[in-house]
Amino acid sequence: MRILILGGTSEASELVKLLADESFFQATLSLAGRTRQPQIPAGISHRIGGFGGVAGLVQWLRAQQIAVLVDATHPFARVMPFHAAEAAAICGIPMLALRRPAWQAGPGDDWQEYDDHAGIIAALGAGPRRIFLTVGRLEVPAYATAPQHFYLVRSIDPVVPQPLPEAIWLTERGPFDLDHELGLLRQHCIDAVVSKNSGGFATEAKLLAARKLNLPVLLLRRPPKPVAPVATNAAEALDWLRALHG
Ligand code: NAP
Repeated sequence: MRILILGGTSEASELVKLLADESFFQATLSLAGRTRQPQIPAGISHRIGGFGGVAGLVQWLRAQQIAVLVDATHPFARVMPFHAAEAAAICGIPMLALRRPAWQAGPGDDWQEYDDHAGIIAALGAGPRRIFLTVGRLEVPAYATAPQHFYLVRSIDPVVPQPLPEAIWLTERGPFDLDHELGLLRQHCIDAVVSKNSGGFATEAKLLAARKLNLPVLLLRRPPKPVAPVATNAAEALDWLRALHG
C-alpha cells in the first residue's frame, strides 16, 4: 500500500520510521522545503517542494498510485491540510490527520490564547517588556510593530533580515529541557513568553519554565482544520493504517 505522508513535523518523521519496518507499506515523506537542513530519516523515500495546489497534488497522487494520504503537517499549517482533504476526496482515497494535541494550561499557569499576532501584540501593551519569542522564523516580522520590547528570538533557521531593533537571535532546534529553558529565561530577564500553541514534548519545557518563574504565556490559537479521522501520535497512526489494511 503506497502512502504519502505530508510532513514537516517530528510525528511525520516518526511515522515514516515506523512504516519502514512494515513490508506491506511503502511510504513517501513530503516536505514543503522551508527548513534549510530538514531532518529526514536515513533511507526514507522523500520529495521536497509544493505540488502546485490541489490540482498538482491530485496529479501526483494519481501518478504515484497513492492509496492513503496522511496529513502530518504542523498544527499551524493553514493551507496544506485543506488541499490534502480536497485532493484525497477527488482521488477517492482515505486521509488520516496526524495531529498532536494542543498544550493545556495546568495549575499555576498564567496563559492567554489569541487568534492572531496582532492580538498578542496588543496584549503585551505599550510599555517595554522582555519577551521570549518562539513563533517561527517567518512570523517574527509581525513583532516589528512593537519595537519598544526586547525580544529573545529563537528559530531553527536564522531570521534574515532581522526585523526587530532590540533583540538577541538564537538558532536552536529542540528538544529543549527545563534547565536549558530556565537558564535562558533567567539570563535574559524575560518577563513574558510568546509562542504558538504547537503542542508536543520537544518545545514544551519553555512553558514549564514559565510556570516555575510565574511568567505569563501568550499563545497563538491553532487555525481551523478540515474534518478527518485523527491520530494523535505516530503509533496511533500506524494502528489506523494497519486496520485499514486489515
Ligand atoms: P501551509 O500554509 O499549510 O502550506 C503552504 C503551501 O506549502 C501549500 O499550499 C503547499 O504548496 C506547500 N506545502 C505545505 N506543506 C507541504 C508538504 N508537507 N509537502 C509539500 N508541500 C507542502 O504550510 P506552512 O505553514 O507554510 O508550512 C510549511 C511546512 O512547514 C508544512 O509542511 C508544515 O508541516 C511545516 N511547519 C510549519 C510550521 C508553521 O508554524 N506553519 C511550523 C513547523 C513546521 P502547494 O500548494 O504548491 O502544494
